[in-house]
Amino acid sequence: MSNSPFVVYTKLSPNCSARTEEITKITPHHMSGNLSIETCGNVFAPPSRKASSNYGIDTPGRVGMYVPESMRSWCSSSAWNDQRAVTIEVANSVCASPWPISDAAWNALVDLCVDIVRRNPGIVRADGKTPGLNYTGDKYGSLTKHKFYSSTDCPGSWLDDHMKELETAVNKKLDTGAATPKPVATTPSNSAAKQPAKPVSRSGNDNIRAFQKWMNSTYGWAMTEDGISGPDTRKHAVMALQTELNKQFGKGLAVDGAFGNKTYAACVSVKENARGNITRIIQGMLYCKGYDPHGFDGIFGAGCAKAVRAFQTNNGLAPDAVAGKNTFRKLMA
Ligand SMILES: [Zn+2]
Repeated sequence: MSNSPFVVYTKLSPNCSARTEEITKITPHHMSGNLSIETCGNVFAPPSRKASSNYGIDTPGRVGMYVPESMRSWCSSSAWNDQRAVTIEVANSVCASPWPISDAAWNALVDLCVDIVRRNPGIVRADGKTPGLNYTGDKYGSLTKHKFYSSTDCPGSWLDDHMKELETAVNKKLDTGAATPKPVATTPSNSAAKQPAKPVSRSGNDNIRAFQKWMNSTYGWAMTEDGISGPDTRKHAVMALQTELNKQFGKGLAVDGAFGNKTYAACVSVKENARGNITRIIQGMLYCKGYDPHGFDGIFGAGCAKAVRAFQTNNGLAPDAVAGKNTFRKLMA
C-alpha cells in the first residue's frame, strides 16, 4: 500500500492502529483552526492526544502525512469508518462559522482525493464498481463525514455544504484523466511562515473575501466581495484604518482612502497581543499581500507577528514584527 506523492511534510503520529479493512472511503475533516501541516503534526504527536489523521492540508494547500494509509487513523469517532477510510484534516482559512477553507486547500483536497482513489480502487461511485466518490449523505457512501458518528460540527458547514461538489470535482478529474498538477509551494517545514501564501486564483481568495465582507459589514460599505486584492480593496482598507484611527485615537483624519502624509503620521504601532479592528485590518492586508497571518480574528498572535516580520523583511523594513507607520505605508501600497 502506498502513500500520496503530494506529501511535503511527514510527522508520524503514534495514535493509530493496524488497518484491518480495505480502503473504501475518504473522510475530510476540518481543523477548526488555521493550522500549518507542521503544527497539525505537532498536535497529533503526543500519545495523550489520542487523535490523528492520515493526511492534513493547510491553507497554502500543502499536504502533510501523520498516519500512513496502511494504518488506521483515530479521526472520525468511529473505528468502523476509520478502518475503511483515508482521513484528511483541512485547515480553515477563517476560524469562524462557516469555517471556510482556502481555494488552495480546496484544490489540494480535490487532487489528494483523486490520487487516493487512483491508488485505492475500492473507493467507488454509486454504481458500486467505478473508482470515484459517492456522497450519499450517510455512512454507506464512499465520501463520509465525522458528524455521522458523533455530535460534532465537523467538517464545518462550508465543507459540509460542498461534499457533493467535492464528489463531482473528483469524479470529473478522474474521468478526464487530467494530469494532477503539482501541489502548491513545497516550502521547507521550518520556514513556512516566511513564505508568502499562494496568491489569488480565478475565483478569488477566501481570506481576502472575508476581509472585504468584514469591512462591508463593519463600516456599512458595499464594495465588491470578489476575493481579489485590487485598488478598491486597498482604498477601503485605508478608509477602515482612517476610521479606526479617528475613533480610537481621535486623529481627525479625512476618511478618503488615500494613504498620505497625515495618515502616515497618525499611524499607531501595533504589536503582538494587540486586539481589535486595527489588527483585523493588518491581518486582512497581509492576506491581500500574499502572507498568512494565521487567522482573521482581530488577535495579533504569534502567527500574525511572523507574517508581519516576513512582510517587513521582504519590503526592506526592520523586521521587528511591530506594525508601525512604515509597515502600514507598505501594507497599504
Ligand atoms: Zn473531524
